[in-house]
Amino acid sequence: NYLNSDEIREKFLSFFESKGHKRLPSASLIPNDPQLLFTVAGMVPFKPIFWGKVEPTYTRVTTCQKCIRTNDIENVGRTPRHHTFFEMLGNFSFGDYFKEEAIEWAWEFLTKELNMNSEKLWVSVYETDDDAFNIWKNKINIPENKILRFGKDDNWWGPAGPTGPCGPCSEIYYDTGHVENCPDPDNCTPACDCGRFVEIWNIVFTEFYADEEGNLSPLPRKNIDTGAGFERICAVVQGKYDNFKSDLFKEIIEEIEKTFNVKFGQDKETDVSIKVIADHARAISFLISEGILPSNEGRGYVLRRLIRRAVRHGALLNAEGPFMRNILEAVIEKMGKTYPELIEKQELIKKITYIEEEKFFETLEKGVERLNKIIETLDNTKVLPGSIAFELYDTYGFPLDITKEILEEKGIMVDEDEFNQLMDTQREMARYASGSVEYDKTKSIYKEVIKRINQTEFIGYEMLESVQEVK
Ligand code: ATP
Ligand code: MG
Ligand code: MG
Ligand code: MG
Repeated sequence: NYLNSDEIREKFLSFFESKGHKRLPSASLIPNDPQLLFTVAGMVPFKPIFWGKVEPTYTRVTTCQKCIRTNDIENVGRTPRHHTFFEMLGNFSFGDYFKEEAIEWAWEFLTKELNMNSEKLWVSVYETDDDAFNIWKNKINIPENKILRFGKDDNWWGPAGPTGPCGPCSEIYYDTGHVENCPDPDNCTPACDCGRFVEIWNIVFTEFYADEEGNLSPLPRKNIDTGAGFERICAVVQGKYDNFKSDLFKEIIEEIEKTFNVKFGQDKETDVSIKVIADHARAISFLISEGILPSNEGRGYVLRRLIRRAVRHGALLNAEGPFMRNILEAVIEKMGKTYPELIEKQELIKKITYIEEEKFFETLEKGVERLNKIIETLDNTKVLPGSIAFELYDTYGFPLDITKEILEEKGIMVDEDEFNQLMDTQREMARYASGSVEYDKTKSIYKEVIKRINQTEFIGYEMLESVQEVK
């Protein structure tokens, strides 16, 4: 009898429509913006409007935006609420309403539309933002001790990329009441990172433009940019502590349980692998549906890393060969109604993933053996030479984050500087040898797959090249 995820998404968008917002579809995961690899937030497609470079057609807009964040890759599976792919709900004002309405409507949506218990909600404002503080205190009537003032690290948002719109922000947190990981439960607040408080919504007062040096100048208009984590809101509404227990992941995780004959929620390390596979299956599906193919550079390399990490966790659950097909089907089944591009590209998604899985299964085991041998010889400085990490990359196809993950479990670090130097040298040599950054044999294989599937409406080679080469 809880609202399901489709109902929550719809409620959000229609709530903001009722407040005069134009509902727009999600933009692409590939931003029209050379500064960014991926769309990392709902505001990204609107950067030129905030900036004052483009006039808005609508001054109030609401969206549910597909996002990819690679900075959270190592959190995935280890926290209950970080994903690589996630959806961000947002409402935007381009020089229209400002702090007061943005705060009031966020509160109204959470407490009236979703019936969240207001006693469980805490908020934060930027340390010097008395306006926002007073709105929370006097208009919303939140007790003062639940309005925290945070500095730049938490309550200043943006710019997304090296330059662009940014500003102070105000965030809303939900108290899950889980104190089991808290070192100091009596004094636990959203400033504590024990996981008791979930950050669900960020309301950004986009007033400034930051240049390369970080100097701020006022934007032509004052704007609102909000981002609410959809998976987190679904979990809270459905009474779950863990996003992966919301209905968004139910069928996907059931398929993983079936594939490996395991049960979710019984063993900590198994759960990490289940969550990584569930998360990455969604990200992989969406990336391929947007025309990204595995490669050694840029977006394609993010995709390759995600597939290889999924394979590694599959191997931890005893897989010996490709296993993703049914799991990808569960993703497409669950999300295809909202995102028809998944259905259109389903054959491509499954084939491309299969080829990558198969290739990595050929070298994964040998690479792990090699790494374990080296680990035995390490002295107690506990640092793996960068040259070994590079060998694992070059010979066994190990992305650095897989090597790091295996080592982390044993308290060992990698000499990343040396690794990066070797990577740079290799790139230089490849450029010299072939006249291109890309020296990747798989590219022709994937082109062949696309031809065979005969996706005439597919973006075509030209797009393929440019997508791969953007960094
Ligand atoms: P966190 O501190 O939890 O990493 P954040 O402060 O980096 O989140 P924002 O940039 O403020 O996140 O993004 C707005 C909202 O998007 C967050 O309040 C959160 O609800 C959601 N969100 C951010 N990153 C993720 C992620 N990796 N997975 C799922 N939801 C996310
Ligand atoms: Mg974050
Ligand atoms: Mg945060
Ligand atoms: Mg935040």
